[in-house]
Amino acid sequence: MRILVIEDERKVASFIKRGLEEERYIVETAADGEQGLALAMDNPFDAIVLDVMLPKMDGYEVLKALRDEGNATPVLMLTARGSTEDRVQGLDLGADDYLTKPFHFEELAARLRSILRRSTTEKTTRLQCGDLTLDLVTHFAYRDEKEIELTTKEYALLEYLMRNKERILSRSMIMQHVWKHNFDPESNIIDVYIKRLRQKIEKPDQPQMVQSVRGVGYRMREIADNTPRGDDDE
Ligand code: CA
Repeated sequence: MRILVIEDERKVASFIKRGLEEERYIVETAADGEQGLALAMDNPFDAIVLDVMLPKMDGYEVLKALRDEGNATPVLMLTARGSTEDRVQGLDLGADDYLTKPFHFEELAARLRSILRRSTTEKTTRLQCGDLTLDLVTHFAYRDEKEIELTTKEYALLEYLMRNKERILSRSMIMQHVWKHNFDPESNIIDVYIKRLRQKIEKPDQPQMVQSVRGVGYRMREIADNTPRGDDDE
């Protein structure tokens, strides 16, 4: 899951970023409203943590601009103000929830999980592909009841593949979704991570779950016991 944090107070932004990364989210930050809006319009995020008091454009203006453009990414507003009108204004503009500063990280994480759950149409906390299960709350994978621990990037990669199973994902789609948008396209980092992921989730005597599609990218496949081994260019 990719989260955008728009917050000008550097300490608060890095506190949120660090906490979310420990929970296996991919986090990008923006330090003012304009930069945040531009990032949110150009990149797919699963949720946005949006501070109200921001330079250049405040949080309400950012939210209004997003919703006016038809961007429905769930938004959690951070407000330092206690007044009811402020909270109502955010919700009326299309915020999904709000949190008053100061807050405990655990509360932010819980509210984020809640708006992410509400926003996923399938209303599920788990993704399934064959006998592989990915828990969207704990961020662990399971195969044959066995727990598989994943790093932040491995989790993000697997989640993206599983949400799009049977669909061919190009390297640039994977790069944009899982890594920073400005990553070197010549890098072999995707292949390195796919290999690590395969070592964790696949079984040597069974068909590959993550299939290489020559010259394009990768595809996650629902495999049956009798599926022959697919073409593999490794
Ligand atoms: Ca602020």
